[in-house]
Amino acid sequence: MNHLLSIEDLDREAIERIIAQAARFAEVSDREIKKVPTLRGRMVLNLFYEASTRTRSSFELAAKRLSADVVNFAASGSSVEKGESLKDTVLTLSAHKPDAIVLRTPWAGAAALVSQWCGAAIVNAGDGKHEHPTQALLDVYTLKDRLGSIEGASVWIVGDVAHSRVARSNIIAFQRMGARVTVAGPPTLIPRGIETLGCEVRFTLDELDSADVVYALRMQRERMGDTQVPSLREYSALYQINARRLSPRQLLMHPGPVNRGVELSGEVIDSPQAVITAQVEAGVVVRMAVLYELLAGRRGPSSAPGQREPSTVAADEPRQLA
Ligand code: ASP
Repeated sequence: MNHLLSIEDLDREAIERIIAQAARFAEVSDREIKKVPTLRGRMVLNLFYEASTRTRSSFELAAKRLSADVVNFAASGSSVEKGESLKDTVLTLSAHKPDAIVLRTPWAGAAALVSQWCGAAIVNAGDGKHEHPTQALLDVYTLKDRLGSIEGASVWIVGDVAHSRVARSNIIAFQRMGARVTVAGPPTLIPRGIETLGCEVRFTLDELDSADVVYALRMQRERMGDTQVPSLREYSALYQINARRLSPRQLLMHPGPVNRGVELSGEVIDSPQAVITAQVEAGVVVRMAVLYELLAGRRGPSSAPGQREPSTVAADEPRQLA
């Protein structure tokens, strides 16, 4: 794996390999000293053009636990505010020779573009409405941890599917792991043709009972026009996941940040069925596994794009974890 741009690039075997590696790293996170020397001397650049709490902090922690050096770059407060383009910013920061760039932008396809501009391994940490592959991986990890196996599970992804990169990546990842996926929400927030990804579509929650897992999405008001939902109150009345709609046997997931009282009621967020905090915890070990997969055993960034060495490190190589 040279880059992680889209969950589409990972077949089931690759997803399982990363999840298994993450499980091994979970053991490191339980130690008193939560660090391994695996990526000592490597540099990870976090390049964020959009707000982030979970993703940025967990990539930083993941890189540090692998002993890599980390540079955090946020567009606000940088020369981006003076009009520097994404390309010039990437080329400028590439002078520091990062081995990996973790990139979040509001632009679909930006991560793929950046992968052509420099020799670093690119990790897509969210590109507009397009994809968020590490979120999908950490959600697979969390579900596998809770259910044992995802095979045959029914997962309902509920809410603002139209603006959600998480929905796209998760529909693909959950199905690759053998789940049946249904997306549900108001017709204005379900993109036309979404069923070509293999999922079912519902415009009501009448059959929500059939789900083993309810995955609620944030209402992405920053990407939404006024015409898409008449009001958040109306949305909540029809689609909010609350104690009335969630049955006790169902697991509840959400990628965060949650609009408390909009897509989820306070009581379900705080219920034992919610695995939202476990998702955040999984984020660190899964991102460690992704950085490991991309960087361990590779040459530094001086090699030209497309000339990176194939991964030679077995996922379960114990010496790397010593
Ligand atoms: N944190 C996720 C993302 O960056 C979900 C969200 O923002 O609603 O896509």
